[in-house]
Amino acid sequence: MSAKALVTYRSAAASRVTLLDSLKTYPSILRKKIKKQKLYAGDFVEGEIIGDQFVIEKIEPRKNLLVRPPVANVDNVLVVMAMRSPNFDSYLLDNFLAVYEYKKIEPIIIFNKIDLLEDKRELETWIDLYQNIGYEVVALSAMQEDGIKKIKKYIQGDITIVAGPSGAGKSTLLSKLLGIDLKTGEVNHKLGRGRHTTTAVTLYPFNHNSFIADTPGFSKVEATYFIDKREVHRYFREFLRYQCKFPDCTHTNEPGCAVEEAVKKGEISCNRFKNYLKIMQFFWKEFDTICK
Ligand code: GDP
Ligand code: ZN
Repeated sequence: MSAKALVTYRSAAASRVTLLDSLKTYPSILRKKIKKQKLYAGDFVEGEIIGDQFVIEKIEPRKNLLVRPPVANVDNVLVVMAMRSPNFDSYLLDNFLAVYEYKKIEPIIIFNKIDLLEDKRELETWIDLYQNIGYEVVALSAMQEDGIKKIKKYIQGDITIVAGPSGAGKSTLLSKLLGIDLKTGEVNHKLGRGRHTTTAVTLYPFNHNSFIADTPGFSKVEATYFIDKREVHRYFREFLRYQCKFPDCTHTNEPGCAVEEAVKKGEISCNRFKNYLKIMQFFWKEFDTICK
């Protein structure tokens, strides 16, 4: 009898699937006639249980595919940024956001370690900025339980990855979401993270049909490493509301630029525009007079 399943473990040598109805997990192999096809964690497949193995007969078309780590069909990404230790860096966040917009994966911004903030005003400013653009934002202390429920509800039934720089609190958050109560080092061990396991990807089931994977920590992500420079503006979502004189306007120094006008009017955040120009390696001479 044919069954539908999700690939929840993939390494160079092996794979496992989890049945979508019973959540039972089986080692899996590809049927001979599709043996040449590529298989990734996150692939939805159809096949048959033969003995104690799941024989994959068909791999469904993917809606997207991440490269690092290799995961298919990702719905959401939790972009975890610490407010302190290390200090929050909006340039890094804006690069992450552009890359995931480009990959068509919905980012959820997690401002973590808010317990280390003496004054919450800075945090509120950042929350307002990103919420106004249209992002889901959760302020969190991963050490405590607050905010975890909100995240769980938001990613219910989806495939989600956790991303963000090293030290932001990704492991801590992951262990809270999965309900594994271990120290950070042990979480890494238990989840099989570390230097020697970078080629294997595991999607962990939790919360009824939700699946989550973590990504290696990037200390730096440059949007232009993934996206053509002339295309970056398409992935700053608040820019898309504006129509410039030239349809392919890069909002750097073109005449009739509606995005520049919106920055001047205060409709677009100076901080976001500044980070955009930095990605474009463009110096806007009027910047200091308009954005203080
Ligand atoms: P990762 O590198 O992104 O996986 O970060 P970890 O989860 O390993 O966390 C890095 C360090 O920050 C660890 O020492 C955690 O205990 C600590 N940490 C994580 N979340 C919080 C938090 O909300 N508040 C504070 N104060 N520390 C945290
Ligand atoms: Zn423009």
